[in-house]
Amino acid sequence: MQAPSPPSPRRDYRAAANRLVGWTVFLLLAGFAASWAWRQPFMAAVRMGLELSRMPPPDALAMPVRGVDAARVADTYGAARGRDRTHEGVDIFAPRGTEVLSATPGIVASIRETGLGGRQVWVIGPARQRHYYAHLDDWAPDLAEGDVVLTGDVLGYVGDTGNARGTPPHLHYGVYASGGAYDPLPLLREGARRAAALETAQ
Ligand SMILES: [Zn+2]
Repeated sequence: MQAPSPPSPRRDYRAAANRLVGWTVFLLLAGFAASWAWRQPFMAAVRMGLELSRMPPPDALAMPVRGVDAARVADTYGAARGRDRTHEGVDIFAPRGTEVLSATPGIVASIRETGLGGRQVWVIGPARQRHYYAHLDDWAPDLAEGDVVLTGDVLGYVGDTGNARGTPPHLHYGVYASGGAYDPLPLLREGARRAAALETAQ
């Protein structure tokens, strides 16, 4: 028997070159596929999620009930509710059926009917803070969990569901940062101030 000849350096070089070409083509195709997928509609929520987590917390909020003046919203954040609760938001009164609008851009995290809030929508907004819209009469048609919403998009309609049953229709609006709820009213007033300034400038 003959001893196997040692592999020729020339063949080694050719195999390495082939592997390099193979990998380059593979990486190019993977890159194209990834950038194509990234631009598809089904990735919109993923893109928005990334964008939201990079955004700073809001320093102004849009009024979440159509046509209501922020100056008319009572400062009831932190007020006692029953024996062991405080009011973790503001109540914005308006006729039943008035449109409830997203105060920020975000992703619809939950649409449900449960507990004190009744018919409610949760939106993940800038800095991944959670915005809570409660006591809705109904939700906007076609609104779905995972939807990307922009400031002013309709989420639902003012009502009195949950523990607001029998009270004048209003939106309960709360904002939760990672450390818990905070008072959104100063930011709503700042939002109204900016909107008014913009209007006079035009
Ligand atoms: Zn409330």
